[in-house]
Amino acid sequence: MSLVENSLSLVPEPKRRKIAPIKIRIKLSPPSSSKCDHWFVHHGICISCNATIDKTEGRSLDHIDKGIQMSQKGLTFTKRAISQISWLEKKKLHLVLDLDHTLLHTVPTSRLCESDKYLIEEAGSRSDLWRFDKPFPSENLIKLRPFVHEFLKEASEMFSMYVYTKGGYDYAKLVLELIDPEKVYFGDRVITNRESPGKKTLDLVMADERGTVIVDDKRSVWPDHKSNLLQIAKYFYFRSNEDVVKSKRTFLYDVEGKKGDESDVNGPLASVLRILKEVHKGFFSGKIEEKLDSVDVRPLLLAPSLRSKRKAQVLV
Ligand SMILES: [Mg+2]
Ligand SMILES: [Zn+2]
Repeated sequence: MSLVENSLSLVPEPKRRKIAPIKIRIKLSPPSSSKCDHWFVHHGICISCNATIDKTEGRSLDHIDKGIQMSQKGLTFTKRAISQISWLEKKKLHLVLDLDHTLLHTVPTSRLCESDKYLIEEAGSRSDLWRFDKPFPSENLIKLRPFVHEFLKEASEMFSMYVYTKGGYDYAKLVLELIDPEKVYFGDRVITNRESPGKKTLDLVMADERGTVIVDDKRSVWPDHKSNLLQIAKYFYFRSNEDVVKSKRTFLYDVEGKKGDESDVNGPLASVLRILKEVHKGFFSGKIEEKLDSVDVRPLLLAPSLRSKRKAQVLV
């Protein structure tokens, strides 16, 4: 098996079968057999030359496939191949989604202020609010952001999606059972603090950075990929005791003392979806096969019309 085939084995079978007629333009060429650069390593053995490779060489990609390790060149090659196949065959880009304050709000019930304690009883009888003990050290409430389901459904038609959270693996698993129980949106494309204990990085996302958009409420966690980031206004639903003391945020309640929430159709997630549609349209305008080397989401995310939209509607 050649190295090219090996790298593409990360792509599911149906896509591989259709690769032949497509011209994928990748400038890097796999190493020759005489001098191996050990691009792809499996459980410590180079799959090209069988040499034993130190674990510290290259990047470990256990979240993609247990025991896989790639050199920087191998990683770049694979990311480009995966993205170009996705662009050409499915017209799909990649989208990296944060969880906390982006798609939902989670709070320990012990921190809820008095006026919000009634929500503990409502959890379970509503489709957007849950109460859990595990995997937390104490009881927590999880509230989905309005429009999450519609957002995921529509975004998944334009993007292959990843979840990338600073939270733990068990927490991410729990949340995914709520928002994607059949694994139709994210599959196993989930990165948590187990795989990524430090800063967030697109190095762990198997896609070309030129075709990857990040949606996250926190800019500082993406020090190397700010130009891929669409920053969304933080979602706060629960009011904590600290919020009451600091009175930093505004929380709306109706006359009966029930909480208000973000708008479904005009809220930040709906605004982000509109921007994603524009970016997707801009990226695929004209003939994608003729601009594979130059096409890039980053200037599209910076476009003036988008910038003003971000200010007005997203970062509210
Ligand atoms: Mg967050
Ligand atoms: Zn080798």
